[in-house]
Amino acid sequence: MPTRRLYYDDAYEKEFSARVMYCEVRPPDVKSGITGTVWGLLLDRSAFYPTSGGQPHDLGKIGDANVLDVRDEGEEILHLVDRKPSEPDVDCCINWPRRFDHMQQHTGQHLLSAMFQERFGLPTVSFHLGAEDSSIDLRGIEPSEAFLEGAERAANQIIFEDRPVNVRYGTADQLSEIGVRKEVEREGILRAIEIESADLQPCGGTHVKSTGQIGLLLVRRCTKIRQDWRVEFVCGGRAERIARHDFQLLRQVAEKLACATDDVVAAAAGALGERDAHFKNFRGMLQRLGEAEATLALQTTPSGSNGLRIVSRVFEGVPAEFLGFFATEIAKNENTIALLARAEDGQLLFAQHPAAGKDVNGLLKKVLEKTGGKGGGTRDFARGRLNDAASAASALSLAKEMLAAG
Ligand SMILES: [Zn+2]
Repeated sequence: MPTRRLYYDDAYEKEFSARVMYCEVRPPDVKSGITGTVWGLLLDRSAFYPTSGGQPHDLGKIGDANVLDVRDEGEEILHLVDRKPSEPDVDCCINWPRRFDHMQQHTGQHLLSAMFQERFGLPTVSFHLGAEDSSIDLRGIEPSEAFLEGAERAANQIIFEDRPVNVRYGTADQLSEIGVRKEVEREGILRAIEIESADLQPCGGTHVKSTGQIGLLLVRRCTKIRQDWRVEFVCGGRAERIARHDFQLLRQVAEKLACATDDVVAAAAGALGERDAHFKNFRGMLQRLGEAEATLALQTTPSGSNGLRIVSRVFEGVPAEFLGFFATEIAKNENTIALLARAEDGQLLFAQHPAAGKDVNGLLKKVLEKTGGKGGGTRDFARGRLNDAASAASALSLAKEMLAAG
């Protein structure tokens, strides 16, 4: 027996009584997030909206049972609930804040789609109403910033005019005579939603009764999805929350930058410019320091009996880049080899003057084989990292022994 859909005629019916026509235990449906045992219920009449047409299902209560999901099954509405109602005649109520939010987003979608179509010739090919934001997919040329703003402004103008939103019934032919835009293939009596002098669309969803109740429509991002353009938007309570959230963010950024909210872009650009200049300075100083320390190290490191001068050092409290500057300076000197490590993270850097005639990459690999770690490079310059930073000093001693051995 078909379920009488109360929301067709009155989307504002929040409480209703009905008779349970059918009730059976159903297995858990993990895919839908339903892990426990549930009951499937059919009622003779229902105000619960089932997931369809881009609009999510309602929640609420049927007698003492909680509604978990509502599905459109042909002529019937299937309610999934967490327990069997104790009586066959049940009082029901839908979760009104959730439903009204859906009505605001859904009616806003009709309006926004109509504006994109009418003003910019961009048809909507799909609609999605999510938990956070909603989106329509437009087909055609990329909507420019001016398109997005123009459609938003036009939609809000119609919201401010508080135009009636009417439900119209008729056959496909009758509806197309009064201006239904979409081709409809279904037979019989169809339902269409009219926003007075703005839009007429076949739709089985729930809508507010006048555009003023959409509240406000804010267009957010536009991104490319395959060949279409996905425009995200929010209406009503969501627009209020998101505008407040955005302003709080802006204020927090302004506080961090110690400027007025209107000046955040200039202040952020200034701060980033300063940061870049400081970084450049810092890098220059780091290089000079690396070179100076390398010069000092060379002065205090004598050559060994094989004629090689080996500067071996574990650094602590310096950036990784410092090792590079230090090593480069060392390796400028003939017959000189640098064996460096960083205590904090076990980074290793081996470098040599080409005339030193060793293979520091091969040396590094042999050391890492014994101590554990990864790395590689060229014959004259190689980097690696030890698995255990604490073994940095012993890794360098090992490298030194290997060099001495041949
Ligand atoms: Zn609709």
